[in-house]
Amino acid sequence: MNQALKIQNTLTGKKELFKPLTKGFVGMYVCGPTVYSNVHVGNVRTFMSFDMIYRYLLHLGYKVRYVRNITDAGHLTDDDSEDKISTKARLEKLEPMEIVQKYTVDFHEILKQYNLLPPSIEPTATGHIVEQIEAVQQILDAGLAYEVNGSVYFDVLKYSETKNYGILSKRIIEDAIENTRALDGQSDKKNPQDFALWKRAEPEHIQRWSSPWSDGFPGWHLECTVMSTKYLGAQFDIHGGGMDLKFPHHECEIAQAEACNNHAPVKYWMHTNMLNLNGKKMSKSTGNSILPEEIYNGNNKILSKAFSPSVTRFFMMQAHYSSVLDLSNDALLAAEKGFNRLMEAIKTLESIQTANQSSVNIEAWKQKCYDAMNDDFNTPILIAHLFEAVKFINLINDKKESISTDDKMLLKETLEAFTFDVLGLKNTSNSNDNSDKLNGVVELLIQLRKEAKENKNYALSDEIRDKLLEKGIQLKDSREGTTFTL
Ligand code: AMP
Ligand code: ZN
Repeated sequence: MNQALKIQNTLTGKKELFKPLTKGFVGMYVCGPTVYSNVHVGNVRTFMSFDMIYRYLLHLGYKVRYVRNITDAGHLTDDDSEDKISTKARLEKLEPMEIVQKYTVDFHEILKQYNLLPPSIEPTATGHIVEQIEAVQQILDAGLAYEVNGSVYFDVLKYSETKNYGILSKRIIEDAIENTRALDGQSDKKNPQDFALWKRAEPEHIQRWSSPWSDGFPGWHLECTVMSTKYLGAQFDIHGGGMDLKFPHHECEIAQAEACNNHAPVKYWMHTNMLNLNGKKMSKSTGNSILPEEIYNGNNKILSKAFSPSVTRFFMMQAHYSSVLDLSNDALLAAEKGFNRLMEAIKTLESIQTANQSSVNIEAWKQKCYDAMNDDFNTPILIAHLFEAVKFINLINDKKESISTDDKMLLKETLEAFTFDVLGLKNTSNSNDNSDKLNGVVELLIQLRKEAKENKNYALSDEIRDKLLEKGIQLKDSREGTTFTL
């Protein structure tokens, strides 16, 4: 079986053969959420993409240590603003750690709904303050940082004398210097490109720790350098995150690690693309977002009905992780149809009759599935091959093709491995989840109510609507027809 996995490496801009630093083992670090608000479906897409990558590496037999952090301190919008968790704590009149707890629980709950595997280690920034202070000291000792008024900044210009700040994002430091405004005197920084390693806390700032420089807190970029080094070593295989983290976050991580260890921290940098809504990046701060539970309880103004987490997951897996994806009602409806067809075929496969000989080439089909995934985790191509299997399962069932017992076993094993283990879809074909049946029954009642209305039997049509509401099912009438939410 061909298992030569290739990965698109942002660092080199090339699709490269994946060779882990230690044979058989993979160290992977993914930037986790800042736990100051509910995760939206865009965030879920990024974590789901890395879950699929993690699952495929496990499927190939690698022993993977997957580290995904929780940012629970120090995430500044820019170096001179308040950090996100403190702002939220002030607005909601809660302790910062109450904010952290609330949204960490929400994050875990949502990822469980979408069938994401937990990472091997989920470290927090607040749990690694000592290590972060040590790293600041190391960077100061290397002459690549300076202290002003109790805050410590990374000296990007000094670093750029010997190293390439911009190696990942391909930004040219000289251009950046020319194009940025001079500092307005409000900042302690020598240059606008410099970034905070440690910030002195203002009196009202609750999250604070003592350090050699001030009572303060670490800069956002530092935690990832420190936690990835601690759990995966000074050099590890894969580092991932959403595209929007490439600069400055990941660029700063590289600079910090180079300053501490004098070599590049990561072999393969991977970046996932954004989920869009209404043609624009989904984002909490602009209000252009939808929450995961609003999709599966149907309680939103964008979609005509509820869609299960598996259907949403299938919808996301139909796009390559590095492509922009647009969330829309039509796309989810199409994904639901496709997902149901796949589940039906998996059920049909159980009972199809075998023959002495196969007329379909299962080995060749299986190889195509691996080829797709080995080509930088190409899930849309993999799904196209899964539908090829759906087609021949139905043909075999109709006695137009045949399959041997051994091939049937191989087909079942491979189809289920890719569908459930690698894509992470949940098997609804043999579960006790009756949501499909419930949807069918409600659709039937909607149809009967429509007929009652056409016959001017308004008493009956109102009764159907009211009785459904009593059971927690709300009908919504519009020009396009009637939809429902649970
Ligand atoms: P944050 O909590 O803001 O640091 O975001 C957590 C992760 O979600 C990061 O890796 C972001 O790149 C990613 N992310 C944010 N918005 C989107 C989006 N619209 N689509 C996909 N990923 C996103
Ligand atoms: Zn990070």
